[in-house]
Amino acid sequence: MNSELKPLSAIGEFDLIQRYFHNLTAQQGVELGIGDDAAVVSFEANSQSRLVVATDSLVADIHFPLCSAAYDIARRSLCVNLSDLAAMGAIPRWFTLALNLPQHLAVDEWLAGFSRGLGEIANDHNCALIGGDVSRGNLALTITIIGQVPADEMLTRGGAKPGDHLYVTGTLGDGAAALWLMSAESNDPMDLRLREHFYAPIPRIKEGIVLRDLATACIDISDGLLSDLAHICLKSSVGAEINLSRLPVHSYLKTNFANFFLEWALSGGDDYELCFTVPSHRVTEIDRLIRQGQIDATPIGKITAGDDIALVSESGRTLNDKHFGKYRGYTHFA
Ligand code: ADP
Ligand code: MG
Repeated sequence: MNSELKPLSAIGEFDLIQRYFHNLTAQQGVELGIGDDAAVVSFEANSQSRLVVATDSLVADIHFPLCSAAYDIARRSLCVNLSDLAAMGAIPRWFTLALNLPQHLAVDEWLAGFSRGLGEIANDHNCALIGGDVSRGNLALTITIIGQVPADEMLTRGGAKPGDHLYVTGTLGDGAAALWLMSAESNDPMDLRLREHFYAPIPRIKEGIVLRDLATACIDISDGLLSDLAHICLKSSVGAEINLSRLPVHSYLKTNFANFFLEWALSGGDDYELCFTVPSHRVTEIDRLIRQGQIDATPIGKITAGDDIALVSESGRTLNDKHFGKYRGYTHFA
């Protein structure tokens, strides 16, 4: 490596994309390029469908512990990719897999487990592996997933308006809790629900489809609620207010991690839940769907006219996230 080169730590992941890749996206047929959970392209004139394409890489020791079973690595890889399609309101169709495999894992035992995990998730979500690549190297995998959505019905990060109500699906903080329990620092036994959540986070495809008609903006929470909500705010030119007491956190976390669960729910990441906004005149509809069990979601706040995210505590005290460094989400390099 040339020691004269400027290290990547000087530039954040999102600046890097903006600076070096964003300008390469302008091609005909691209309805939505770089900057959302997935790209949306139109492949033939007058088609009622759009293709939705997303890629996520998982690298050993960064995105999953080195000791993870092949079956679990495969499930997690496909689930996190499916989650980006869910955030677009898309249904999955096909995927490709690029696999870097160290020599010692190129054995039947590892590959059979990997294949079984991939097959289970693919089967659950009706999508087919259509190609890929295999190479020797440090363990890492990249999945490119392709789905479809009816034209004009895709969900994006860009449509939130002041006054919209803010929701999240499922519970928050579970991904961070699982990571903590897997870490060398923890002496606590692994909780099975959390383990399953980490290795096979349920992609909210069903919810995304219901939300096509209801949500003004949507994102999946991979880096932490605050960090991912900030993407909605930036793309929609709005701010947001989160009621801390409303954040849906599983009782196991509240009981066992009283000092950590709030931080994990706000910025832990790895939850792969959807964060979405609904206009106030349609709140009764979404609340009815929640009551009927058609969508598992919780209202957590509102979209505001500002450009920052405020956290409102139970006592009504407002904290501004700009002054609340520890509640930042995950970012590579920065
Ligand atoms: P997500 O967390 O939803 O997977 P990312 O934060 O990884 O999204 O990426 C944000 C946006 O930047 C996405 O639209 C993604 O497609 C795009 N992006 C990320 N890396 C690259 C790259 N190397 N080249 C082009 N676009 C990229
Ligand atoms: Mg995403």
